[in-house]
Amino acid sequence: MTSSPPLYKNVRSQQSAGVGTQCTAEFTVRASDLEMPPVGKDGKSAAKRGLLERLSSGEVIIGDGGFVFALEKRGYVKAGPWTPEATIEHPEAVRQLHREFLRAGSTVMQTFTFYASEDKLENRGNYVEQKFSGQKVNEAACDIAREVADEGDALVAGGVSQTPSYLSCKSETEVKAIFRKQLDVFIKKNVDFMLAEYFEHVEEAEWAVHVLKESGKPVGATLCIGPEGDLSGVSAGDCAVRLVKAGADIVGVNCHFDPATCLKTMKLMKEGLEAAKLKAHLMVQPLALHTPDCNKQGFIDLPEFPFALEPRIATRWDTHKYARDAYNLGIRYIGGCCGFEPYHIRAIAEELAAERGFLPKASEKHDAWGGGLAMHTKPWVRARAQQAYWEKLIPATGRPYSASFSKPDSWGVTKGDKDLMQQREVTTENQLKEMFEKQKNVTGLVA
Ligand SMILES: [Zn+2]
Repeated sequence: MTSSPPLYKNVRSQQSAGVGTQCTAEFTVRASDLEMPPVGKDGKSAAKRGLLERLSSGEVIIGDGGFVFALEKRGYVKAGPWTPEATIEHPEAVRQLHREFLRAGSTVMQTFTFYASEDKLENRGNYVEQKFSGQKVNEAACDIAREVADEGDALVAGGVSQTPSYLSCKSETEVKAIFRKQLDVFIKKNVDFMLAEYFEHVEEAEWAVHVLKESGKPVGATLCIGPEGDLSGVSAGDCAVRLVKAGADIVGVNCHFDPATCLKTMKLMKEGLEAAKLKAHLMVQPLALHTPDCNKQGFIDLPEFPFALEPRIATRWDTHKYARDAYNLGIRYIGGCCGFEPYHIRAIAEELAAERGFLPKASEKHDAWGGGLAMHTKPWVRARAQQAYWEKLIPATGRPYSASFSKPDSWGVTKGDKDLMQQREVTTENQLKEMFEKQKNVTGLVA
């Protein structure tokens, strides 16, 4: 079946031509009907091609989803520190989530090393550095990611993220030394490529890229910024240029904003690179949350962050649109961050199935555009087994007193502010009281 076009594409084109507006067997597309990624005789992938090789040949790379958010909801990560000690405390939970993303179509297993820098693991009373050490957390993350990546055709990305040390105005040498400790583990564990992600300040991301480049492996770099640029006032276009000049092979944004906003930022980055006559691959990993009301600081400034964001969750159909828009913008590394669950990643893989030439395994349980509903008992639900239905639907929230938009807190606190300083000790009662008072005055949300 290598020469025939994927069935999935046929179904989409029939539907968009209006042929498939009734519920027929044409809708039922099974993963087994389609090509799967090449595998060797031993059941494993033939020698894996590297990231840059894949991107340069036009292959779509699908990232994974938001581990801290997903594992917080499952009970393995604490909201607040958001650190990944689950790699040691609950490796089975981390492994299972990797497996679900792999099954959903991810071609990258990011090591669960978000906020796994030593300074973050001992910030504000965190016990992880003392009890386990950053090295052990990072090593365990690499082992789990590799184990699952080798169950399919996925690559392992060693990831670093922004540090409390930078926000506390530590020197370039000090901040780089922190990244280097994580890099040592990634080199020892031989990850496939490096990723600097979730940086609010391009300067710190440049430092991370410099360090990760020492590995000689490909380096991706994403900032958690919106169209207004980074938190020190550098425009999105200039941020992209600086990251490429620092040595990043792939640049883009992740987290903090919804898919539509992230794609606006990506457009600005792309234009910035074009104006500077620089070439780089583009990547995007947004939130699976709707955040049209965010300011420059992104979703952490919304009053609902982090425990009441559920009404904002993107549907799988929203995610289809995101994947198509990202692809049309020329982005070939498309993934997700906080809020992205395996079914969102599957939606990316399904939307781009024709381009990729295969569906993910998880599509065995998900026929295209709700096609599985053709098996439903109730006729009115069977009537929903069609693309036209789900594409047009505007979901209700079921919350009659819910507003569409919130007002971000807008404290405007960033690098160098005393309230952001790294502090080993637990946050004190007095420090908390001070914050509660400030919140009363600033937001008026608390009576
Ligand atoms: Zn995120």
